[in-house]
Amino acid sequence: MGRTVYLNGEYVPEEEAKVSVFDRGFLFADAVYEVTSVHGGRLLDFDGHMTRLKRSLGALEIPFEVDTEAMLEIHREMVRVNAIDEGVVYLQISRGAADRSFMYPGEDVSPTIVLFTQTSEALKPKNPEKGISVVTAEDLRWGRRDIKTVQLLYPSMAKMEAAKSGADDAWLVEEGLITEGTSNNAFIVTRDGTIVTRELSNDILHGITRAAVLRFASETQLRFEERTFTPKEAREASEAFITSASNYVMPVVSIDGVQIGNGKPGPVALRLREIYIAESSKWAV
Ligand code: PMP
Repeated sequence: MGRTVYLNGEYVPEEEAKVSVFDRGFLFADAVYEVTSVHGGRLLDFDGHMTRLKRSLGALEIPFEVDTEAMLEIHREMVRVNAIDEGVVYLQISRGAADRSFMYPGEDVSPTIVLFTQTSEALKPKNPEKGISVVTAEDLRWGRRDIKTVQLLYPSMAKMEAAKSGADDAWLVEEGLITEGTSNNAFIVTRDGTIVTRELSNDILHGITRAAVLRFASETQLRFEERTFTPKEAREASEAFITSASNYVMPVVSIDGVQIGNGKPGPVALRLREIYIAESSKWAV
């Protein structure tokens, strides 16, 4: 605690940052967000996050022009004033505060922009040498998962259910096919060594880490396919892993209590993690 947060153009102590009770982010989950990882005090995949932010804002017609250079300055200042070496910068833009109505308010309402930081200790990352366990759960989210909105209640419920059953996370399943993890993209490595992850559509978030990992996989001549897969195929895979800005590449060692491969993090996942950290660090800003 004791952090400095950014609110609508000002850097303020977190206790002093106040948002209206009429903010549509609060009343309607009418807000989008990005989480950019900080490694060695520098931001990873920053441009990718800004590109997705623009897309999310456009999809919801939130009238906010993203100036990538200005955003970078704010992100950097947040990293600096909060002395973040390893952690994340969270950015949220809501449509703003207006009298409660299902209709979007007029142009006189300005978006609310908030940034705060979290250190790695606060995020409690899992140990990649140990990997994580997941259980499958029905995907009951809405149909526009490609828009990164703050409407995260179902993923939160699914993660709580997973924790109650002793697992670290849930992989969500729709019509018998895995969509993604509660807050990450899901991958398997088949017995013939092919990396498989679901193709992009409105059914999943277009992960920035997912895109980077697929790019690095193709640059290193690793075979991959973007297609759907079932929980059964995942349980029988030789490896499984997740990707996200805060977890990078994290091996999955069991699915629904079934050990994946030899029950230890697989070589492809660990290698991709290494490549992801090394390569994305080269372009960190
Ligand atoms: N899918 C979902 C549902 C997520 O919430 C996230 C992380 N916010 C991801 C995938 C991973 O996306 P990224 O690699 O951009 O963090």
